[in-house]
Amino acid sequence: MFLDLFAGHSAPLSCAAKTANIDHFSPFDIEFNATCDILNDDLFENLLKLAHSGLVGAVWSAPPCRFYSTLRKNDGGPPPLRSKEFIDGFPSLSTYQKRQVQESKEIHRRSDLICIAVFQQGGFAGKEQPLNSIAWKEPSSQQFVEQCSCYFVATPACKWGLDFFKYWAVAATSDHISNLAGHCSHRDHMDFRGKRLPDGSYISALTAEYPSAFASAIIDIISPWVSKSSLMNQDLSTWRSLLSRNPISKGPRITDGAGDISSANWTIPQSTDFFKSLRQVWIKRILATKLHTKVVDACQRHQSDPSISEDELLPFLNDIQHSFSSTSLHFTIPDHQPFRLQLLHSLYSSSPKTLIQRLPPYFKKAFLLELSHSLNL
Ligand SMILES: [Zn+2]
Repeated sequence: MFLDLFAGHSAPLSCAAKTANIDHFSPFDIEFNATCDILNDDLFENLLKLAHSGLVGAVWSAPPCRFYSTLRKNDGGPPPLRSKEFIDGFPSLSTYQKRQVQESKEIHRRSDLICIAVFQQGGFAGKEQPLNSIAWKEPSSQQFVEQCSCYFVATPACKWGLDFFKYWAVAATSDHISNLAGHCSHRDHMDFRGKRLPDGSYISALTAEYPSAFASAIIDIISPWVSKSSLMNQDLSTWRSLLSRNPISKGPRITDGAGDISSANWTIPQSTDFFKSLRQVWIKRILATKLHTKVVDACQRHQSDPSISEDELLPFLNDIQHSFSSTSLHFTIPDHQPFRLQLLHSLYSSSPKTLIQRLPPYFKKAFLLELSHSLNL
């Protein structure tokens, strides 16, 4: 599903998602719903859990930039609160202004954490800010960009039919956002800096809203990550009711190595449980002798020597010998090898079908190749 964070007054992305029949949650923005306050801890926790649930296929976050704007010059507009050098606010700020700085920082931090969580569950995450927003310098923004290997594009408002000079910048987890990129070569756009509408509001505030062409282009980009099953405007507080009743077949997706997304669910064996008796004995022994904490400690200390001694290993090797008493097993580690590959090979030879079925296809090929190379077969 699509999550529209800081959707804006008229929620153009949610409108475009609806038009494209894309499943989406109700847009989140304090602008039209006073209860959508991300600084509310309970609400934020709910959003973060949702982001970790795997239900959100794509999130687009455009947290407010007004306290990060470099447009806030002393030209009649609101005064600037921070600069690149003073990202946490100028020393001269009043208590009220300091609070504005702290709150805007926390809003961005929470938004970035949600983006990271969605990406970690295999989804798409995008963050938008004006190109000149100092928010891009926030550690949490940089964490999102680095941790999720984000792509970055800038796009001018005039590319989307608006006659003013403004660049939106987007950091997102897919290179599909390159479709948004553009360049403005006009010289005659309206200058709205510091100018107000008759009701006293600043024109620059209006330019935060996406034109529909821009919104549709973004929805096009996220469409591979979201479902289309007529779930429109789903209530954010009741997302748990959308979770699959059968988490085995449709559990959360996780990135569990080599860039592959899987359900990583091993609660039900995929084939004959060949090692069941061995595994049960070993887990009991590991817990009884606290070997697992020893391994964790060794990892934390970046220890390069084996974390388990030969003496500690012996009962495990005896178990293998006992379980496969009819097979001749090789327990030695040849000089040029780091592991007991010969043992693995003899186990594999003793029951090739069962063992090989447990390996994923791509790994199976690599495993057999590596094995035959190492053992000079
Ligand atoms: Zn232009």
